[in-house]
Formats: sequence, C-alpha cells, structure tokens
Amino acid sequence: MKFGGTSVGTPQRMKEVTKLVTKSGEPVFVVLSAMSGTTNSLVEISDYLYKKNPDGAHEVINMLERKYERHLGELFETDEYRNITRDFLREEFQYLRSFTKELFTSFEEKSIVAQGEMMSTNMVVNYMKEQGINAVLLNALDFMRTDKNAEPDPVYIKEKLAATMEAAASGEDTPVQVYITQGFICRNAYGEIDNLQRGGSDYTASLVGAALNAEEIQIWTDIDGMHNNDPRIVDKTQPVHQLQFEEAAELAYFGAKILHPTCVQPAKYAGIPVRLLNTMQPDAEGTTISNQTEYGKIKAVAAKDNITAIKIKSSRMLLATGFLRKVFEIFESYQTPIDMVCTSEVGVSMSIDNSSHLGEIMDELKKYGTVTVDTGMCIICVVGDLDWSNIGFETRVMDAMKDVPVRMISYGGSNYNISFLIREEDKRRALQSLSDHLFK
Ligand code: ADP
Ligand code: ASP
Ligand code: MG
Repeated sequence: MKFGGTSVGTPQRMKEVTKLVTKSGEPVFVVLSAMSGTTNSLVEISDYLYKKNPDGAHEVINMLERKYERHLGELFETDEYRNITRDFLREEFQYLRSFTKELFTSFEEKSIVAQGEMMSTNMVVNYMKEQGINAVLLNALDFMRTDKNAEPDPVYIKEKLAATMEAAASGEDTPVQVYITQGFICRNAYGEIDNLQRGGSDYTASLVGAALNAEEIQIWTDIDGMHNNDPRIVDKTQPVHQLQFEEAAELAYFGAKILHPTCVQPAKYAGIPVRLLNTMQPDAEGTTISNQTEYGKIKAVAAKDNITAIKIKSSRMLLATGFLRKVFEIFESYQTPIDMVCTSEVGVSMSIDNSSHLGEIMDELKKYGTVTVDTGMCIICVVGDLDWSNIGFETRVMDAMKDVPVRMISYGGSNYNISFLIREEDKRRALQSLSDHLFK
C-alpha cells in the first residue's frame, strides 16, 4: 500500500492511513511519501543554498520546523511517543541547518530532498506503535538501489529487501503487522543518496510489490482512480475502472499525474495488478490496472506540456537511406529522447520534452537540411484499445479535434494511443472537446 503526499498530509490523515492499513488484519507493506508540500520546501531550501543565501534557507527551515512541531501536538496521545518523535525531528532539522555553510552541489541537494520521506515514515511508525500495532520501519536506503544507468536494480532490491525484512522481524517478539518504508529515495550505483525523480514514490511501491511478489499493489491518493481526462483542467471527468498495463503506462507518461510514468513497468513484468484508490473515499471502486483489455474502448485522454517540435527538411532525404539514422544519432548524442516522429519523403518532424541541448542539436541538424523549431507545444494523447483492426475511432477523435490547429499526428507506434501535437494555448479546449465527443 503506497500513500501519497496528501494521504499523509496532516496528522488526521496519518491516523486514517493507520486505520486503512490495519483494516484487513493481514500483514502489509507500506510505502509513504513525504507530507504534501514538504518536498517542495526542501527543494526551495536547496535553491537558496545553491544561490549562497543561507538566510533564505534558514527561513524556510524554521517555517517547516514550526509546522512539524504543530503536527506533533495533534498526532500523539502520549508524551512518550511525542518525545521520541520530537527528538528525531530535532535531529532532522539540525541536519538541514548543517548544510547552510557548506559547498552545495546536487549531492547535497539529494540528501536534503530525501528528508521529507524520512520524517513522514518516522511519524507514522511511531503513531502506529503508540496505538499498539507492531509496525517496523525499514530504511529504503538499505535496499532501494539504482545502477550506473540510474535504473533500479531489481535483483539487488529483491535480495536486500528480503534480508532487511528478515533481520527486522527476528528482533521482534510478536509477528510484524506492518512494514513501513520511504518512497522516492534510494542509493545510486556509487552508494550516494539519490531519488527516483519527483512523484517517484509510486515507483518505489511497484518495485517493492514486484520484489515481494505481492498479491496487488495499491496506490492510495486523493482521487478515486485514473480519470478519463485531466481533472485539473476539464469539468466532470469520470474514473476509469479498468486499464490495461500499456494504457496506464501511456497515460502516466503523457501527463496523467496520478501515476509516475515508470511505475507501471515492474508491476507489468511481475504480472501484479495495480489499484488506484482514494484515501478520502476508501470504498470507491478506483481503477484496476491489469492484463485485461476492454475490446475497442477509448479509455482516457492526457496532455504533456513543454514540448518542442523540430522539423528538418532536405531534398537529400528523397530516396536516400541512412538519413533518419543520422538525424536520430544527433539526438542520442545529446541524451535527448524523442517522443513523437512523423516523416514524409522530404522531411521529418520530431518532438522532445527536454530542450536543454536544443541549440547544439539544431546546429548539428543544419548540416543535413533546413531546420525549424516550434516551442510552447503540448502532446494530447488519446488512450484505449486502438488496434488498427478496430475501425472508426480515428474519425471520432479527429472530429473532436476539428477546430484545433494540429502540428503533428502520431498513430501506429503502439496499439494503445493516438497523439496530437498542438499549441499549449489550445490545450484546454482540445481536452474539453475530446471529453465532450468521446465520453458523453
Ligand atoms: P500523490 O501525492 O498521492 O502521489 P499526485 O498529486 O501525484 O498524488 O496525483 C494525484 C493527482 O493527479 C490528482 O489529485 C489529480 O489532480 C492529478 N491527475 C492528473 N491527471 C489525472 C487523471 N487522469 N486522473 C486522476 N488524477 C489525475
Ligand atoms: N515526495 C516526493 C515528491 O513530492 C515523491 C512522491 O511524493 O512521490 O515528488
Ligand atoms: Mg504522485
């Protein structure tokens, strides 16, 4: 069971999480995010330190500490557990203050942003113990590890997790009811503190679920499952009750914030269903992600911002071989992944979401043809069982997009999505129109 930032966002919510976790009476493995807002504050502290402004960092640290001090008052009933937790938090804030005069690099930043999950897990495990539950806290840094490509190492994780759990259980007189660990944080191939990117607690949960061969992986959040469109932008979106792994992965990758993009993969390989559930409405059905496909159904729409489109036109491409390879190699040499590709006989258009090497990439592309760039674009992705033998879905989707200027269209790369590249300023009306046409 993984609980996100809002689900552990207040002492009251932590108490409700405790009830949910112990409801079944079965032993559970729990992954927690930092309390909502904390990781952002830790990033802000790091920003001040990068800018050599320790006073700015101190101000944020003091504000955060006052907030946690208030939480302690609300969370605990006994002085014993309140004091144990207060001592732990004091050390945490001292640790955060210790950075202010040091040299500051991404190494220090990663150590700072890791502390949100350290604090939330410590608070919850102590609350559970106060309630008489045999809960054990495992340090994710002991078993979550990435390799030299910054990819999680499943073999290491499985072995180390089993050993860590066994060691923890052997020190207990009664059977462990709840194992708790931190989402998001890990060690990298060099043994340094690192993380699985923002929103990465979902990824921790599915890696742990796969390592334990869990019955299911539950992602508890603040909404009743994956909705058929972005609820932050479109009115009256509806939960989708069933998704195929690939459909969920496409939606997560193309902007459905409810799931971290890489979270689906470990669960899919292990064949473990993932359920998206709502902490505020625990009885709602939510979404089940599994191997099952609902034939011919369009499931949902998502949007990804900050996209740049690059077009290279060259008469040299006409009837030539090796042109695309040369173009793609340029992107590869700058570690810039391509999202969408469309080709014609004389040109190719691609979209990227990381434009940090755009200048260099353009300079190199210009050796092969005329290059044009459109910034401020977004990808709209329609997801479902869109196998090419299912007829008619293209017409329905196109009809919804008929008033929106479209820069690129991509279909056929997978059986699960059709994507459009449009201007960011048209995003809202494109998403709304797709909802009106596809889900009413
Ligand atoms: P957590 O802190 O629990 O990880 P997140 O904020 O990362 O939660 O994800 C949940 C949020 O994702 C929702 O509150 C919602 O605003 C947003 N969201 C974006 N797209 C979707 C979607 N298609 N379905 C459901 N939620 C979505
Ligand atoms: N706390 C981290 C973040 O805010 C990880 C997570 O919540 O998934 O990004
Ligand atoms: Mg999240």
